[in-house]
Amino acid sequence: MGRSKRRRLGQNFLTDANVAEQMAALTDASTPRVLEIGPGKGALTQPLLERFDRLLALELDESLVPALREQFGTAGVEFRAADALKEPLDPLLDEEAPWQVAANLPYSVGTAILRRLLPRNDLFTRIVVMLQQEVVDRLVARPAGKGHGIMALERAAFAEAYIAFQVPPNAFKPRPRVMSAVVVFDLHPAPHSPESLSGAFSLACRALTMPRKVLTNALAPDVGSDQLEAADIDPKLRPGTLDLADWVRLAGVIGRQ
Ligand code: SAM
Repeated sequence: MGRSKRRRLGQNFLTDANVAEQMAALTDASTPRVLEIGPGKGALTQPLLERFDRLLALELDESLVPALREQFGTAGVEFRAADALKEPLDPLLDEEAPWQVAANLPYSVGTAILRRLLPRNDLFTRIVVMLQQEVVDRLVARPAGKGHGIMALERAAFAEAYIAFQVPPNAFKPRPRVMSAVVVFDLHPAPHSPESLSGAFSLACRALTMPRKVLTNALAPDVGSDQLEAADIDPKLRPGTLDLADWVRLAGVIGRQ
């Protein structure tokens, strides 16, 4: 395969069996079904199948699927040539829910895939994924902490998250240029309605494009100090210090006016 196709598909295959084993060990034995995204050549599939009798895997590169079927195919184990960004999830997963997810995600579309999965606590209990370290840091960032922005706010709406361990480039072939990290998400029902969340995210997105400004300046001219104060937020704070509940309250104050 050409290098550009490999790069587009994020095909950095895990060659360190210990990393795959440690990832699989982060799944929770109480949910017996696992969805794997991008099984590639099966590095993570192998230790997952030591824990799960039921595995469904979605792999975009159909040329990899016959070998996966040959190596691991047995009752309850299914490999589909499918795009995890597009494949309708409900018909595949709903009847047997809940599932867990385990994946060494293709880095180019990793966050887009997560955006599909994280709001689905009706389908998934835990998601264990590998991504580039820089993205993982932003996903788990805390208010006022380094890198706290829209990614952490979106994640906080749907899951608790922690970094399990880091993975150096030499654990893969070909080697990626960046450090990677494994992150665990435990999903929970969203504490706010979809409308409140969308209002909160759109305000936060706007303000966070000017992270160094105080809130009144970052949100001017549409939002003033009186509205911030009505939402119990200090107008002199910077956007990165607010948590999800703050943004939801502010969106609520603005929506009521
Ligand atoms: N799990 C294997 C491993 O750990 O060695 C492969 C991981 S590799 C980083 C990412 C895998 O995701 C590749 O096999 C790639 O073909 C596949 N992939 C890329 N985009 C995808 C998509 N949209 N849906 C499903 N699989 C995808």
